[in-house]
Amino acid sequence: MFPEPEAKKKTTKAVAPGKPASGQCLCGKVAFEIDVPARWAWHDHSQASRRAHGAAYATYVGSWRKRFRITKGENDLTRYEDKATGTTRSFCSGCGTPIAYARARSPHMVNIPRALFSGRTGRQPLYHIAIEELQEWAYTGQPLVPLKGFPGVVWQRSKKKKRAGDDPSALGRAGQP
Ligand SMILES: [Zn+2]
Repeated sequence: MFPEPEAKKKTTKAVAPGKPASGQCLCGKVAFEIDVPARWAWHDHSQASRRAHGAAYATYVGSWRKRFRITKGENDLTRYEDKATGTTRSFCSGCGTPIAYARARSPHMVNIPRALFSGRTGRQPLYHIAIEELQEWAYTGQPLVPLKGFPGVVWQRSKKKKRAGDDPSALGRAGQP
C-alpha cells in the first residue's frame, strides 16, 4: 500500500534488530510488543480514526500480525467491529486506550497507535491517509509564544481580530485592551 522508506536511510538502523519495541495502555493492564523494524508508519486523518482516538488525527505503526504480541492483559481487551468499513478496533476495557486496529482488506497486518510505544519502532510516520480531512484546528507547527500569567502554557498568537472566548489570556485580564 505504501512505498518502503529507502533502505539507505539511517533511521532504519536506529533500532537494534531482534529487540522488540514495546508499549502499553494508559492504565498498564495491557502491554504488547512488535518485532522491529515495523512495516510502516503513517498519520491517519480519517473521521473514523479521529473519533476512535478522540484526537485531531491518529498516528499508526503497522506491523505484520505474526510479529505483534499481546504480552499482558489479553483478557482486558475489548473489540469493536465497524461492520460498515470491515475494521476491528481493540481497546483496553479498563482505561479505553486504543490498542490495535485491523482492516478486513489487510488481514495479515495490525496497526498500533504510535503513541503507545515507549521507544523507537524502526519506522518514521512519513505518510498521511485522508490528508484532505486535516482539521483546521489541528496544530501543524505554527510558532508559539508563552501566555502571559499562565506558566507552562503557550499559544499561537492570532492575527485575526480576537473574538471573546477565543483568547485564553482574556481569562485573567478582563478589562484590558
Ligand atoms: Zn488500560
